[in-house]
Amino acid sequence: TKWVYTFGNGSADGAANLKNLLGGKGANLAEMSNLGLPVPPGFTITTEVCTWYYEHEHSYPEELAAQVKAALADIGSVTGRIFGDASHPLLLSVRSGARVSMPGMMDTVLNLGLNDETVRAIGESAGDMRFAYDSYRRFIQMYSDVVLGVDHSEFEELIEDHKDQNELALDTEITAESWVGLIEKFKELVERELGKPFPQDPQEQLWGAIGAVFGSWMTARAQTYRRLHDIPATWGTAVNVQAMVFGNMGETSATGVAFTRNPSTGEKTLYGEFLVNAQGEDVVAGIRTPQDITEKARIEAGSTRPSLENLMPECFTEFQAICDKLESHYRDMQDLEFTIEQGKLWMLQTRSGKRTAKAALKIAVDMAAEGLLTEEEAVMRVEPAALDQLLHPTIDPKAQRDVIATGLPASPGAACGAIVFNSDDAEEAKAAGQKVILVRIETSPEDIHGMHAAEGILTSRGGMTSHAAVVARGMGKPCVSGAGMVRIDYRNATLMAGGRTFKKGDVVTIDGASGQVLAGEVAMLQPALSGDFGTLMGWADKVRRMKVRTNAETPNDAKAARDFGAEGIGLCRTEHMFFDGERIVSVREMILADTEAGRRAALAKLLPMQRQDFTDLFEIMKGLPVTIRLLDPPLHEFLPHSDEEVAEVAAAMGVPAEKLRERSMTLSEFNPMLGHRGCRLLVSYPEIAEMQARAIFEAAVEAGKRTGAPVVPEIMVPLVGLKGELDLVRGVIERTAEAVKSETGADLTYQIGTMVELPRAALQAAEIAKSAEFFSFGTNDLTQTTFGISRDDASSFLGTYQAKGLIEQDPFVSLDQDGVGELVKIGAERGRSTRPDIKLGICGEHGGDPASIHFCETVGLNYVSCSPFRVPIARLAAAQAAL
Ligand code: PEP
Ligand code: MG
Repeated sequence: TKWVYTFGNGSADGAANLKNLLGGKGANLAEMSNLGLPVPPGFTITTEVCTWYYEHEHSYPEELAAQVKAALADIGSVTGRIFGDASHPLLLSVRSGARVSMPGMMDTVLNLGLNDETVRAIGESAGDMRFAYDSYRRFIQMYSDVVLGVDHSEFEELIEDHKDQNELALDTEITAESWVGLIEKFKELVERELGKPFPQDPQEQLWGAIGAVFGSWMTARAQTYRRLHDIPATWGTAVNVQAMVFGNMGETSATGVAFTRNPSTGEKTLYGEFLVNAQGEDVVAGIRTPQDITEKARIEAGSTRPSLENLMPECFTEFQAICDKLESHYRDMQDLEFTIEQGKLWMLQTRSGKRTAKAALKIAVDMAAEGLLTEEEAVMRVEPAALDQLLHPTIDPKAQRDVIATGLPASPGAACGAIVFNSDDAEEAKAAGQKVILVRIETSPEDIHGMHAAEGILTSRGGMTSHAAVVARGMGKPCVSGAGMVRIDYRNATLMAGGRTFKKGDVVTIDGASGQVLAGEVAMLQPALSGDFGTLMGWADKVRRMKVRTNAETPNDAKAARDFGAEGIGLCRTEHMFFDGERIVSVREMILADTEAGRRAALAKLLPMQRQDFTDLFEIMKGLPVTIRLLDPPLHEFLPHSDEEVAEVAAAMGVPAEKLRERSMTLSEFNPMLGHRGCRLLVSYPEIAEMQARAIFEAAVEAGKRTGAPVVPEIMVPLVGLKGELDLVRGVIERTAEAVKSETGADLTYQIGTMVELPRAALQAAEIAKSAEFFSFGTNDLTQTTFGISRDDASSFLGTYQAKGLIEQDPFVSLDQDGVGELVKIGAERGRSTRPDIKLGICGEHGGDPASIHFCETVGLNYVSCSPFRVPIARLAAAQAAL
């Protein structure tokens, strides 16, 4: 078996398509070698060795040692150096490299092969003993840290002691002789900690590092990362062993990182940083400030330190050509690492670069215009969920930023408002028409109302998955979390940051994209849904099969959804209309009425208001389909709950409080979500369905006249489990339609359908479809009833289920395709068996979740329906699902 693949010197055993075997880094090093780019020679030990290692008690396949030896000899023949040789020693870097880049694993050991003997030869050939000893001590530190498990800080302490004693400020002031002394101390430290000396034998060093890479595959950190990102443990990691090149061999040497395009704006300009006379770790460590690669960037940044273009023009020209070549070869923006050793450029890594949503969009559209990608490929390049970042206001890049603190960019968008320190204050201020930013040390479920009321949320504690972050993202509100430099004092209602104190009511701005907190009100840009966004969405719409509708009941939401490209309303939840202003009074009157006549009298007051609601929606949607769901929630939800409220409402309605309380008691249920709701209400009180149907039909006639476009309402009956339930309500609707027709003389066309949100409905879909022209899968309730868990409080244990790996995702967020999905499939198939042209859609939360949308495509649904802000995400996800 071939366990080792070599690369370098213009050729390679492997190539980019062997990512599974060679890992991402190894495959791309091979690919760059095949392209003839200057890659330091090396070899990759395959991921299969990792698998073997774990299947055979941490041992290696028999042929491995010989293959490594041969590969080392190959490197030697290219470089003219021999591993472990006292006069021409070869030094190596050893890096891990899985299929996908994976923080949490061992990263890199540099300068491997140095020992008391080879260090001298390296110093002589470089003509610089200080460089050699500096490299040696770095190697001891790195190797001890990642391979031997001796903490990095212990070495740093020795260095600091030395600097203190000799009154030195910088590491660079330490002389070669001093490093020699420190190296002895380093070695003593290792021996003291481990009970054996630091390995001098280069072979032992190499195998130690290889073992450490494989070992790092199973560390707790790596396992956690894999679990969070759905990476199977069976993939394993590869090990990349490569000849060292030195960016720290004097002033003609350098090291840097670059992106072939700007990763935050997407602009087509080389973008990157470098350090002269440095090794890769120095760039990452951030001790020295790196310089710009291009003159253009240097000038824009107003930097006086020379660019690479200026300092090493030949290397720069060569590098720029390589960037172009790699980008057109991979047909994607690349993230590169390079080193210049005494004027010679070497490429150390290339991979697809991470980018913001804005950049992803621009790069995809530009590359299609450049002919690098087809339109369809461009559509596939943008992550639908990332569009979320683009649908919110952002801070005007030209605005002055008075940054007082920085936290985590927890939820996209920018917001400004007066600071408040608790949720009740937030609500109160909002009611008074004030815009507020809710500032908390951290948030809890009790803060939901305050978060709703606030424009944005700022916390001083908590990460990207803290309560504040998760809830804010769900609400589409900007959030900066974990701003540790902010001191929050609840008692005095102050916030201290950057040496300044802000009181309750002072205005701040938060930027959920950068994590910045700014003093005062800062100018914002409203999201632009034109330009690249519009272009890409246009391409997506061309290839999409499924329609995208929205869940909306207010004119504002409906308009926003139209602007985002919704092609109709998939779910209008009429109960939301029942709470508005004076209507709730009539709704309560209806609930309190003891007779049908009493109920009818109350409903008659609601009729004109409902009719107006529907007329508005039909007009906004201008002939696009509108699905209106008849009343769904249990009546109890409309009654007041606290004693205070009961007294108030009773007084307002002129009924005894006792009566209200009694009615409330009779209506209350142990399991209201499984109780007297949905079509069950309409079976008990058909007059509710009658009023709503009448409002819909009269509105359709009215809107049809006004817009000149015929309105074809789709009336949806919720929570059906029996065909008989639907038939009963259908009868009421049809009789009402006939009545409206004869009263108005108008020609009415309409459809009646049902939600499939109970397992029985899915199983009996063939029967039910005989009475339904359309189905809309209500996957919120269907998830609840399939799992037998409550959508209101399952989160108390679903988190534990996720942590223990029982479920990958919250089934209320992403559709459980195996279970709930099977019922959707059954419902679709059986429904079509008796009504082949039945219209099928989904309107649960899953209708805006990209993975669930993919599933809907496989079932062949006609449309998905989601909240307005998710419409663009759904359009793109539906396009990708169709490709
Ligand atoms: C559903 O159950 O999926 C649904 C859309 O209805 P609601 O969320 O209003 O119960
Ligand atoms: Mg439902």
